[in-house]
Amino acid sequence: MIVLSKDLGSLVLEKLREMHGEINLEEFTVSRVRKGSLYEFIVGAVLSQNTSDKNALKAYESLRSALGGAVEPQHVLSCGAKGLANAVKPAGMNNVRAKVLFELAKLFSEKGFEERLKQSLREANSNEAHRVLLEMPGIGPKTADVILLMYFGKNVFPVDTHIARVTERLGLASGRSYYDVRRTWMEILKPAEYLEAHLLLITHGRRICRSRKPLCINCSLKPWCKYFNEKGRKLGREADPPT
Ligand code: SF4
Repeated sequence: MIVLSKDLGSLVLEKLREMHGEINLEEFTVSRVRKGSLYEFIVGAVLSQNTSDKNALKAYESLRSALGGAVEPQHVLSCGAKGLANAVKPAGMNNVRAKVLFELAKLFSEKGFEERLKQSLREANSNEAHRVLLEMPGIGPKTADVILLMYFGKNVFPVDTHIARVTERLGLASGRSYYDVRRTWMEILKPAEYLEAHLLLITHGRRICRSRKPLCINCSLKPWCKYFNEKGRKLGREADPPT
C-alpha cells in the first residue's frame, strides 16, 4: 500500500513536468474563456463535459458566432432551443447541452444574479462553494471544481476521466470515485500546485496513460505504478526499481 505524502506528490509532479513540459493552456476550452464573464466561463465548462477539448472548442466558437460574437444570457435566450442545439452540435449531446445552457441563461439573466453568485462563491469556503454550484442546472462535481479552481482560484482539485484512470492505475486510490481521487491529490499536493497538476495529469492521460494500451514504456512513473508492476509481473518481467 502506497503511503500518501507531500513527498510523493512532489515526485509525481516532477516526473509529469519532465514528461510533458510546459502546458499549453490554449488546448483547454475553459482556459480560453477564463477572462470572460462567469456566465461565459460556465458555458465553456458545460460544453467541455464528456467530450474532447477539440470538439468543445468547435462548439464554443460555433455558439459564439450564432450569438453574434457575445456569449451572454440574453442572446442565448433569444437564440431559441433549436438554434442553440444546432450551434453546440460539435460537442455532442446537443439537445441536453442546449437545455442546460438555456436554464443557466434564465438564471443569469435575472438582474444582479451573476454579481450575487460571484460574491457568495468568493466569500464561501471551498466546500460550501462546491455545494452552491451543485445546485445549479447541469453542474456536477467536476464542473463545480473547474469553476472554483480556474475562475475563483479556490483550493479544489477537479477530477476528469483521465485523472481518475491515472490515479487508480498508479495505486493512489482504490477506485475511480470522484471524491476519493480528489481527496488523494489534495492531500499529496500543495494548493499552489493544483492547477498545474490537474492539467498535467489530463495531458498524461491523453498522451501516455491512455485508456487502451497505455504507453508504459515511455512513462517515467512506472517504478511507482501499481498497474505497471502488476502487469510486469504477469508478463514475467521485473519493473524498474524505484530510484
Ligand atoms: S506506468 Fe503505465 S499505467 Fe502507470 S501511469 Fe505510466 S502509463 Fe499509466
